[in-house]
Amino acid sequence: MGNATDRTWQQSHGVRASLAALVIASILPVAAVAAVIIVGIYHKERAQLISNTVARAHAMINAVDHDFSNTRVALSALGTSRMLSSGDLRGFHARAVEALANLHADSILVLDTDGRMLMSTRRPYGARLPVLASTPLLRRILADGQPGVSDLFTGPINKTLIYTVGVPIRRDGRIVMTLNATATPAQLAHVIAEQRLPPTWRASVIDTAGRVVARSHEIDRYAGQRLSDDQLRPATAAQEGGFETRTLDGIDVFVVFSRSPQSGWSAYLGIPLRELNAGLHSTMTWLIGATLAALAAGLGLAWLMGGRITRSVQALIPPALAIGEGSVPVIPALHFREAHELGQALRNAGASVRDARAASQESAQRLTLAANAAHLGIWVRDLHQHTIWVSDQWRALFGFGKEQQVDLADLLDRVHADDRPHVAQTFDSARLGAPRYDIEYRIVLPDGGLRWIGSQGSVEFDYSGHPALVRGVSLDITARKLAELDARQKQKEVTHLSRLAVLGELSGALAHELNQPLTAILSNAQAARRFMAQQPPNLAEVDEILDDIIAEDQRAGAVIERLRRLFDKSETPRAPVNLHRLAKDVIHLLRNDLINHGMVVHTDFAATAATTEADAVQLQQVLINLLMNACDAMAGALPAHAVITVRTATEGPDAVRLSVIDSGSGIADADLARIFEPFYTTKARGMGLGLSICRNIVAAHQGRLWAENNPDGGASVHLRLPLAHEAAP
Ligand code: ADP
Repeated sequence: MGNATDRTWQQSHGVRASLAALVIASILPVAAVAAVIIVGIYHKERAQLISNTVARAHAMINAVDHDFSNTRVALSALGTSRMLSSGDLRGFHARAVEALANLHADSILVLDTDGRMLMSTRRPYGARLPVLASTPLLRRILADGQPGVSDLFTGPINKTLIYTVGVPIRRDGRIVMTLNATATPAQLAHVIAEQRLPPTWRASVIDTAGRVVARSHEIDRYAGQRLSDDQLRPATAAQEGGFETRTLDGIDVFVVFSRSPQSGWSAYLGIPLRELNAGLHSTMTWLIGATLAALAAGLGLAWLMGGRITRSVQALIPPALAIGEGSVPVIPALHFREAHELGQALRNAGASVRDARAASQESAQRLTLAANAAHLGIWVRDLHQHTIWVSDQWRALFGFGKEQQVDLADLLDRVHADDRPHVAQTFDSARLGAPRYDIEYRIVLPDGGLRWIGSQGSVEFDYSGHPALVRGVSLDITARKLAELDARQKQKEVTHLSRLAVLGELSGALAHELNQPLTAILSNAQAARRFMAQQPPNLAEVDEILDDIIAEDQRAGAVIERLRRLFDKSETPRAPVNLHRLAKDVIHLLRNDLINHGMVVHTDFAATAATTEADAVQLQQVLINLLMNACDAMAGALPAHAVITVRTATEGPDAVRLSVIDSGSGIADADLARIFEPFYTTKARGMGLGLSICRNIVAAHQGRLWAENNPDGGASVHLRLPLAHEAAP
């Protein structure tokens, strides 16, 4: 496993953690949405409750107003009593006491317009009554002539908290007195009781001064207490509304109020906040509980499932390792279908790997067998690790022991010192990426024996395109190499023999060639003797004659030297050869022979120099052969037709062609290729070796030799050679 994979593995999470994350990710958003919805619903319900409560506060203050209006109606009815208008206050007192029984009031009294109490049912008629000053209610009634309600005040007789409903009594359209009914806060209690409010709610009736007149709880304690300005302000600003506050008895409530436009009194209904929020709290508690329970259940399940998945996956590790070892794994029972499928796939993979291994072993064995049978040594060179693996056959081939460690240096050490630089260079090129090589070299075995090795390699590249390894085979080619050398030797000998044969044919011409200088030397010598015999001897002439003799002798020497070179078995070194000069020399050499055969040789040379890198003697041999063949082909031709043309022409920038063109018998088309085969001849005394030797010589010069028939009779033999771009000496 590589480092990168290790890191990825360390960063990845376990199945259990992932499943837990999944559970959390699926439950928490749902819970959050539920919470939002619940809060929304709660707010709606709360708004609904508040608006319902406003209606109830409204109903409550209406009931208070109704109570006042009952009292007003009763007082107005009582005010029409004749006893009152006739001034019979005693009679009226008795009448008022009677009326009191039907009213929610505890006394009835009559005040004059100055506020003096004329009569009160609290006292027997005629008893002394306290003197009252002008009250706000009286002033209001006198001002607008309408009945009214006072705020809470301390009654002058009983000194208890009371309030008064008063109506004006008119005589002749003028208000002459007011008839009043007083009531205690307790007498308003029924109004609250009739509302049937939940027992925990707080309900109060507040007068225009902001004092508690009636209260659902502990009225005795709180009657007459003034509410705080904060609590009163909303009810002065609006007729209805609500706000959060703390009650006089210290309970946090949401208060809803409704103010009467007639009396200016207000009804306050307080719902304990705890009660108001209890629903939300319990719902929220329930939701959180349910979420936690779902999370716990989900996480528990994730733990269990994660464990199962983990066990299933881990159970597949040994099978995977077994595949690596080449056996078919046994798949244990697994919890999941997918794991089971993976297990099956692993088993199949195991079987495939085992089969492939067997097949590869088989093929490796076959390969080894084939390699051994073919005496092939196999080797693999790892260019990254700088190691070489070699087969046993290779070790045998190179004379290394079976267990012996082999590296590149050991290998190069075996290579023959003369071949070592070339081999080392080839190995280097392979390392640098030359895709393949094919070399032959000698090795020196530990016992001193020499062995020829043919080695072929091909380079394989890694994914980044760099050479990674070289794979190849080596083969013992000693036998072939020796045979080649032997063949070369034989070839040389045959070439030499053929040359001798040519010389044999040339001997006449050579004799003639030598004859000329010899005859000249002879006649010069005779002349010299004559000059010496003169008295006095003509020494000047003799001196001249001796010069001629030396020159003739040198000519003869040159002829003999040429002959010697042709006889010479050894190869002459390659050197730039001027083809034109070479052709002229050969024609000159054959001149007499040609003349004897009645042949004329024309030359038609290209304007540019035709220089080729060659063994001059071998090329001469080729040209002699071609000219002699042309001569043979034209034997018996009429003198006018006995013309041989030697023509040169450049072929592109790199080659030159030399053609020997005759007008002889020509060559049957079927034989155009065969004439170059050894021992093919149509001549009675021919050996059939000339052209085959010529072709070998030409091939050794990277050239080509071929024949074709001329359109107007006769044959042309062409010789194509690479040009040397260096002037011939
Ligand atoms: P040899 O001259 O001993 O026969 P060569 O190999 O030189 O051997 O020639 C083989 C044969 O090719 C000749 O016998 C001849 O039939 C044919 N041949 C060679 N040159 C010519 C030519 N210029 N015209 C016709 N035939 C030729």
